[in-house]
Amino acid sequence: MLRPMTSVPRITVIGAGMAGSDAALAAARLGVRVDLYEQRPVKSTPAHHTDRFAELVCSNSFGGEGANNAKGLLQAEMAAAGGVVLTSAQATRLPAGGALAVDREAFSDRVTERVRAHPLVTVAATMDDAAEKAAELAAAAA
Ligand SMILES: Cc1cc2nc3c(=O)[nH]c(=O)nc-3n(C[C@H](O)[C@H](O)[C@H](O)COP(=O)(O)OP(=O)(O)OC[C@H]3O[C@@H](n4cnc5c(N)ncnc54)[C@H](O)[C@@H]3O)c2cc1C
Repeated sequence: MLRPMTSVPRITVIGAGMAGSDAALAAARLGVRVDLYEQRPVKSTPAHHTDRFAELVCSNSFGGEGANNAKGLLQAEMAAAGGVVLTSAQATRLPAGGALAVDREAFSDRVTERVRAHPLVTVAATMDDAAEKAAELAAAAA
């Protein structure tokens, strides 16, 4: 049965990196409304070069696969949870021996599309930008 809109819980997630993207979609999949604030491209960081979510700023490898090592076990747990990071990594993987490596652009594109497409996720820029915009609008209306 559908719940009335007012009873839908709402959370705020700051940053659409890997952690923020996974958290936002995990919450949305549970029926939670998510306000996701991502500062890029309005404001970037020394490490990031794009406006895409879950940008890999370092290695494109998530490490070795298999439950006999810590990274592989974590990958298996993330895959079992159905998170967007692991499912996107699997969908955009490159040959890398026993490791899970990805095409970084295709990976970020896929995470971005998935997150932006979810009807319960609203994406905005930083809270500072939102506050500045609100102040601008208030000043213009005065
Ligand atoms: C040069 C470098 C090399 C690295 N090498 C490795 C490596 O070899 N292996 C490894 O495992 N890890 C490495 N790391 C670490 C790895 O990049 C991080 O562990 C990983 O990116 C963390 O993901 P995250 O989702 O937590 O954060 P991030 O990917 O950093 O995402 C944070 C997001 O939050 C946004 N944000 C931040 N503040 C705000 C705000 N106030 N409002 C709105 N949005 C905001 C940012 O724009 C960004 O999109 C490296 C990092 C760097 C910088």
